[in-house]
Amino acid sequence: MSTPLTSSEVIALTKKHNYGTWRKQKNWNPAHLASADGCYFTDGNGKRFLDFSSQLMCMNLGHNNAAVIKSIQDQAATLAYAAPFYATTARAELSKLLLEVLPDGLTKFFFTTSGTDANEAAFKIARMYTGKTKIISRYRSYHGSTSSSVAATGDPRRWPMEPGGKGQGVIFSPEVNCYKCPIRHTYPGCGIACADYLEHMIANEGDVAAVLVEPVVGTNGVLIPPPEYFPKLRRICDDHGVLLIADEVMSGWGRTGKWFAVNHWGVKPDILTTAKGITSAYVPLGLCATTEKIADFFEENYFAHGHTYEAHPMTLGPAVATIHEMQRLGLVERSNEMGAYLGEKLHALKAKHPAIGEVRGLGLFWAVELVTDQRAKTPFNSWQDKLDGKPMVVEQIAAKMLAKGVVMQAWMSHFVIAPPLIVERAQIDEAVSALDEALALADALLEPQLATL
Ligand code: PLP
Repeated sequence: MSTPLTSSEVIALTKKHNYGTWRKQKNWNPAHLASADGCYFTDGNGKRFLDFSSQLMCMNLGHNNAAVIKSIQDQAATLAYAAPFYATTARAELSKLLLEVLPDGLTKFFFTTSGTDANEAAFKIARMYTGKTKIISRYRSYHGSTSSSVAATGDPRRWPMEPGGKGQGVIFSPEVNCYKCPIRHTYPGCGIACADYLEHMIANEGDVAAVLVEPVVGTNGVLIPPPEYFPKLRRICDDHGVLLIADEVMSGWGRTGKWFAVNHWGVKPDILTTAKGITSAYVPLGLCATTEKIADFFEENYFAHGHTYEAHPMTLGPAVATIHEMQRLGLVERSNEMGAYLGEKLHALKAKHPAIGEVRGLGLFWAVELVTDQRAKTPFNSWQDKLDGKPMVVEQIAAKMLAKGVVMQAWMSHFVIAPPLIVERAQIDEAVSALDEALALADALLEPQLATL
């Protein structure tokens, strides 16, 4: 038997032989995550951390859920793998449950192993179904890392993949961002001009297969559209025979206080993609769900997509257990209740810290946006700063919180706050108080006259 690795060996081997994602490799010093339970995880030195971003906004049930762990063990013991052309009990049970929890009208499913490849499937389906090519995405968005999904990603994670110019038939429209409108309008007087702009694009581009949106934008700032946006976008898509794809990889599964974010506006997408919370990230599962109308098309037309791990039983069994756990624990309702409490506390922080430009959120999905100037809404740092390796103020604040044992996702000039949906009030108090203390760092960087605004 080999001797167990020490924590420093774990870190050294990981760093030496693995790629750290989305970064220069040189200064990557991964923490050793040794074990986890509920809203906490423990590092290799035994220090405990409150996980206020559910790892990557995905562990909605929290760590170490007994029912999901048992479902993984049971599934492995019963049927660890089946090729995608077989029917399996896990596949049938999950399909039945999905009909209960997905927005109405989504009845046919393609299972993947990530959000990225759920979107790849959606693009292919949309293009095959419509016979058209272009996908309209929005600038402040992330849709995945493989060639098509990164081409559909609006944020600069797309840039390194474009040495030969833009490709893959994706074009970008302005995002909906009422805090800092990219086309300098003001809600509600704008009449949702960003949707009009998108319609103008559809009319003038021709050959548009689909519009792709994160109903609540995730890492790019928890951007919540005004109530009129989605009904208007749905009408625009219908008027032009364009499909509406809702990417609910991050916003689904109770995160925003509804099973899916589109439910807030009663809008039915033609295709919905998701991953993350579908298994609370215990196993890697993604889903591309379509309407019956799209499904009918493929009755007589060749469905040109598939992969070895499609509908992998080890991913589907745990998804059934995850959904049952969400129902048993009432986590969608809990997301609303605890989200309201978290929101109140974050708004109180805004009143206190001049470096906070805006606090916004739905359910247990919140952003705290930091600015050097509340009037001009100037961020502390930009993407270019990040790419240039400049010190990022949000990351310095996150490091201070980490020292206090609280983990919160820092992103350019905002925090994405998304604790497990099982979070308790005391844990919200602990995290917000750590943020409160650490924000002094940002306040101190403001011009003296701004600090008194
Ligand atoms: N779409 C959205 C909105 C996401 O947030 C993500 C990942 O964070 C993806 C797609 C890609 O999912 P994955 O990382 O599972 O491939």
